[in-house]
Order: sequence, then structure tokens, then C-alpha cells
Amino acid sequence: MDELPEFDRKVLEVLREPLESGHIVIARARDKVRFPARFQLVAAMNPCPCGYLGDPSNRCRCTPEQIQRYRAKLSGPLLDRIDLHLTVARETTALNAPPQDGESTAQAAAKVARARERQVRRQGVANAFLDLPGLRQHCALSDNDRQWLENACERLGLSLRAAHRVLKVARTLADLAEQQAISREHLAEALQYRPAAG
Ligand SMILES: [Zn+2]
Repeated sequence: MDELPEFDRKVLEVLREPLESGHIVIARARDKVRFPARFQLVAAMNPCPCGYLGDPSNRCRCTPEQIQRYRAKLSGPLLDRIDLHLTVARETTALNAPPQDGESTAQAAAKVARARERQVRRQGVANAFLDLPGLRQHCALSDNDRQWLENACERLGLSLRAAHRVLKVARTLADLAEQQAISREHLAEALQYRPAAG
């Protein structure tokens, strides 16, 4: 969904149910039908209405009120259900930009496939679909790390739902690194993908 805040608020809010449960219930006059609706949501938005907030060119002239109104179009409960929030710089317009270093798409895809296999072998489902008992069993933390995560979630104003999602992302980071246990580094990185509340 490109330009996420431009979608009708009602359309955005209705996404909450399938994002959480993987199905959607449609109720008409006398009937209620439940359809499977498991999907991956990828959405993009600008940092402000004009799109230049934070840009080195200093071109943004949006007022704090305009920025606030623009961002308020997305509710906290909807944002809660999005696991990875990333800020990216404006794409450069240089036509001859040098190729970026780092792993190729094929290498990254292979790594993801290995991490997924690891999850299914361990627990029968991908980390995103772990239920509460599964979370306790497969995302166990040391007492120190649990306390650290609780404090961090408190400081960032994260809901319990968001905290569980952070834990699953940390589990996935550990799987990508082919690590048995979730470490403090995985937790810290998972937290970086969460915007603070407000
Ligand atoms: Zn702006």
C-alpha cells in the first residue's frame, strides 16, 4: 500500500482483524462468513505531507500541526500490528550511482529460506504464527534479558501485543544468524524496528 495515510481510515482499520488473526469475518443481513486472509502487508508513507521532512535539502515547510495530522491518520493499534518500521533516505537521482556493497538478493533469499526451514523444523510454524505457549517455549530469555526487554518496552510505551511481536522478530534475527538462543543484540535490533508510541 503506497502512500498509506492516503487510504480511507475505515479501510485501514479493517486491516487490523486479518493482520492479527489471519482471517476475516464478513457479516451481511443474516449471514456471517469467515474467509482465510493471511497476507503480508508492505506499506510506504512519507515522513510529512510534502515528503521532505528530515531531507538534507531543508525543503520541508510543513507545520508541526500538519505533520501531526498526517501521521494521526494511522491508528496506534494498526501500527502495533506492523512488525518492521524502517526509515529510508530519499532515493538519489544520480543516474550513475555506484552499485551498493552487501549481499545480493539471491544470497539474502537463500538466508531467509534457511531461517524459515529452521523455524518450521523447530516448532512446526514460522515465528510470526507462534501462539502464547509457543512463544514461551521457543522465545525464552534469561532473567536479565527479560527484565531488560520489559524495561525497554515500558520506556517506549509498547503494548503487550507489540512486545510479543518484538520477541518474534528477535527470534527471527537469531534464526537468520543461525543462533540457538535469542541474545541481547537480537532484542535490541528488533526494538529498533518499532517506532516509540506517540
Ligand atoms: Zn514536509
